[in-house]
Amino acid sequence: MEGVVWRDAIPPPVANRPHWLPALSLKINVSGVYISYPFCAQKCTYCNFASGVFPRELEARYREALAREIGAHAWEWTPDTVYLGGGTPGNLAPDALRGLLDLVPGRPWAEATIEAAPGNLTPEIARAWTTAGINRVSFGVQSFVEKELRRTGRTHTAALVSAEMAMLHAAGISNINIDLIAGLSAQTEASWRESLDWVERLAPEHVSVYMLEVDEDSRLGKEMLLGGVRYGALDTPSDEATADFYELAVERLAGLGIARYEISNFARPGMESRHNLKYWTLQPYAGFGADAHSFDGRMRRQNAESIDEYVSGGSHPDDTSSLSDERLFLGLRLSAGIRPDAEEWRRFDVPIHRFLDAGLLETDGGVLRLTNRGVLLSNEVFQEFLNP
Ligand code: SF4
Repeated sequence: MEGVVWRDAIPPPVANRPHWLPALSLKINVSGVYISYPFCAQKCTYCNFASGVFPRELEARYREALAREIGAHAWEWTPDTVYLGGGTPGNLAPDALRGLLDLVPGRPWAEATIEAAPGNLTPEIARAWTTAGINRVSFGVQSFVEKELRRTGRTHTAALVSAEMAMLHAAGISNINIDLIAGLSAQTEASWRESLDWVERLAPEHVSVYMLEVDEDSRLGKEMLLGGVRYGALDTPSDEATADFYELAVERLAGLGIARYEISNFARPGMESRHNLKYWTLQPYAGFGADAHSFDGRMRRQNAESIDEYVSGGSHPDDTSSLSDERLFLGLRLSAGIRPDAEEWRRFDVPIHRFLDAGLLETDGGVLRLTNRGVLLSNEVFQEFLNP
């Protein structure tokens, strides 16, 4: 869900199966399934994703198209992770969710995540999720501070998030992610600390922290371009302040035992997202729904981006010519770094040494990784690896 213009959105998965793998404790060798559900109860002011509010009739046709696509898939492997993202798949009626997941082999999956916006959960829905095979929930909290939330268009409160986490625990779902956004309108160091205090209080297993970069196609971005005041356009923190908030979160979460393992992702030991790690460690997965990507270990494919086009049936085989370029920067997203081979050291010699000299990269026994400063400037670093 959380369709912000992330500075570091998950890039499309790419490349041949690598000879390297980051030194993570998780053993990941089975493929995953991604299901896209791009429907939301409201359009958040900062969001530039194709997700949003659409007619109910289109949503019904989308569900049918999704069921057709999943049902027609020729499974060459049994997935061990499933991820329902969007949009807000948490708003799917329990029966519809169950119907879609019944089409995916492998239940009980090692990890089955649903993204949800706080505000709609009931004990019955939480139990229905468990019955359907869901064992992990990613909550698009974004902030625990009401002034910030109202400017995004969100209506939940910190108390509601707390109550809904209790419902999930009661239903047997204890693996919960909380999404936070650094750089929301009206955010200050004090209010950011307040959100982090709530994270400490609620003690989730996983936290995602995204630095907001306002996109001109979002309502907030358009308002800023017009010089208007709606959505708190005048109170949006500077890039420097946003980076400071992010670094504050890195430090605070580490103190809570929730360590950064990827640029935007933090987890207690062993609670890293098994599914999302597949994107960064180049393992195959199948994507279903509008704009969903698939990677079979060799080629990637992208479904039609717009909901209308998807419902009418459409997918686009991607150009695979740049896959070897993208392999390096995907691995650099991980705190564990990567171990480039001799060919990669040769090929990227110039940018690697430039960023080593600039203190944005560091090496350690043949492993290459971003420094703390490099993480903040990661887009600039990745750009160079795409155009060496
Ligand atoms: S919940 Fe908000 S941020 Fe997330 S996809 Fe929907 S409109 Fe965008």
